[in-house]
Amino acid sequence: MIIFSGIRPTGPIHIGNYLGAIRNWLELQKNNQCFFCIANLHAITTPFKSEQLRQETFGLAALYLSLGLDPHQSTLFVQSQVKEHAEMTWLLSTITPMGELSRMTQYKEKSDRLKASQINAGLFYYPVLMAADILLYQTEAVPVGEDQQQHVELARSLAQKFNRQFGATFKAPKSLIPKNQARIRSLRDPSRKMSKTDDPRGAVSFLDSPEEIKNNVMRAVTDSDRQIKYDPQRRPGLANLLIIYSSLENISPQEAAQQFVGQSYQSIKEELSQKLIAFIEPIQSEYQQWIKQPQKLEEILTAGQEQAQTIAAQTLAKAQQKMGLLG
Ligand code: AMP
Repeated sequence: MIIFSGIRPTGPIHIGNYLGAIRNWLELQKNNQCFFCIANLHAITTPFKSEQLRQETFGLAALYLSLGLDPHQSTLFVQSQVKEHAEMTWLLSTITPMGELSRMTQYKEKSDRLKASQINAGLFYYPVLMAADILLYQTEAVPVGEDQQQHVELARSLAQKFNRQFGATFKAPKSLIPKNQARIRSLRDPSRKMSKTDDPRGAVSFLDSPEEIKNNVMRAVTDSDRQIKYDPQRRPGLANLLIIYSSLENISPQEAAQQFVGQSYQSIKEELSQKLIAFIEPIQSEYQQWIKQPQKLEEILTAGQEQAQTIAAQTLAKAQQKMGLLG
């Protein structure tokens, strides 16, 4: 299968990104043709600083590699380095209904949190750019967390609409969403998803120190019930801790709950902090090695750019030709 996914370089990625998306990528890269991009054109739709964005782009590349994405197996590249993404966005925008974009949950949530002057047209177009990312590679499956499902569905419906209107051009992609880990919740507010930008204290990121990890986990919001039980509906805080723990141990959340029966929240949190620290530490030291070799990172990204561009250019040319545009 052809697989495509990406993450915005807006700060170190967290355990939610890992369990919701990247863990799937690592499995998929073994037997599929995978493209993983650093979505810097998406990152500029919300307030950002230029120098920081440049650094975060290399930082995310270093994290991709430290987590085990392998440039010999997968194509790793930076979205802005393949100009076809911006051009394809324009073509697709002309078949995208305004109404559908205004119904996008992520757009509504993000624009609710921003000041009116910060809500730009790029934020509104975000899903069209994402559809361009996906469709340029004739992608069949898109491994993402639950929050991105609606965007992948838009990409699918745009592919079908384009094909109907102009003739067979794109494959229609599907999302691949993990069962239990599709939405890791904030440790501080289990009604929201874990997000570094919303509340760093509610997240465990791959660049946190062991003290920060321990602090954030120990202060995680749970409930006042004493019995340990996996009940995501009624006890989302505890369920979230059990999901994170069980994912690291490769067991089910129910099995994790069994394991902790009779123990206090304090001891679950202690055990979870230890597991997280042990999991994150080697990735962090690998990251430190990569970040010291910017030239090597650049070489990998340039090779990725070339591989991606060859395919993207072919699909763009095909779409232009079908639309009657002189390319
Ligand atoms: P972002 O950081 O928003 O660019 O997200 C990158 C990827 O991580 C996407 O596939 C998201 O669906 C996934 N993701 C982000 N936050 C979470 C979360 N709290 N739980 C599960 N998956 C997530």
